[in-house]
Amino acid sequence: VHYTAEPSTWSEIRLDRLKDNIREIRHRIPAGCAFMAVLKADGYGHGLLQTARAALAGGADAVAVGTLREALLLRKGSIGGPILALTPCDPSEADIAAENGISLPVFQEEWFKEMRRCKTTRKRLRVHLKIDTGMGRFGVRDENELERIIPLLRANDIVVEGVYTHLATANQADESFVREQLRRFREMHRRLREAGFVHPIAHCANSAAALRFPELALDMVRVGASLFGIVPVDGDAAKTIDIRLMQTFSVHSRIVHVKRLRKGESVGYDKTYTAPEDEWIATLPIGYADGLSRACKGMSLLVDGQWAPIAGNVCMNQVMVRLPAYYPNGTRVTLLGENGGQTISLERMAEAIGTIPQEVLTLLGARIPRVYT
Ligand code: PLP
Repeated sequence: VHYTAEPSTWSEIRLDRLKDNIREIRHRIPAGCAFMAVLKADGYGHGLLQTARAALAGGADAVAVGTLREALLLRKGSIGGPILALTPCDPSEADIAAENGISLPVFQEEWFKEMRRCKTTRKRLRVHLKIDTGMGRFGVRDENELERIIPLLRANDIVVEGVYTHLATANQADESFVREQLRRFREMHRRLREAGFVHPIAHCANSAAALRFPELALDMVRVGASLFGIVPVDGDAAKTIDIRLMQTFSVHSRIVHVKRLRKGESVGYDKTYTAPEDEWIATLPIGYADGLSRACKGMSLLVDGQWAPIAGNVCMNQVMVRLPAYYPNGTRVTLLGENGGQTISLERMAEAIGTIPQEVLTLLGARIPRVYT
């Protein structure tokens, strides 16, 4: 078996830029507001432990992850400090969360009661009360539900560390629903304070809200996408945000085969590409199984600072590109990020395949070997 330590397709992760992005975002949120780095989905495809270390070194105060499993991986990797596991876990898992000082969202009466039956540790469980103000995913929806949950929050072994909600439209130009969500959140928060819970950290702002609405920063912001250089704000509203964030993720591959195609010859499944003239076609070892969507067909990649369009359908493990000139095996081709003074942004690839940059990150980030710089 021929083995090379160097993968022929790899992603490059710029943790220095992640730290710079945190500093940039911090400048735009009120002083004294805490910063929670949201590292769901394996750190948005960048690697959980690596991004957590970088985010904390870069000035984040706390970390949020998708699942309790991810939170435990961070503890195993010696990440201290507050960790919030955003996706509700099974009530029987409260013990392990409490033992490891991991904070959990709470909002369901039944979950609470079942958790009470299961909990054996004397360690206190840290919770963040989740309010559903319009996202419609998880959370207490009205005052009645809140009144039923408040007595449960009074247990001695529960610490109500936070109260939060999640915004559905902070990316959109029309701010009216954001204002409505904030109004509902304030109402529920006021009721919680009246019930004697005056200390919980209030938080609601994701990246878009943190960048656009300083008054929504409250006690803490929860920033995910912007850590990685994404400004997740639509159209004209994005133009009002004066921030320079850097893309932290790039994908590169090396040519493994080059051939001269004669005019009229075709490449790939279904013969969807036919050479309009004699040209150089290269094969790269990356395909849709690696997260390069078939919808990328026709999109241009970069070789030596020049554009090289994908020719024909993306295969499972390979893709063919039309080269601007002959380049030998081993030449670096960039699918995302910088090459020879040109850049393929996450936004460009997202638009090409009809999705958002976050999905591009999780598609490609999950499967390609990472190199950290
Ligand atoms: N808060 C919650 C509850 C989330 O689910 C997410 C991401 O999905 C975030 C914050 C971070 O959002 P963004 O990536 O837009 O900053």
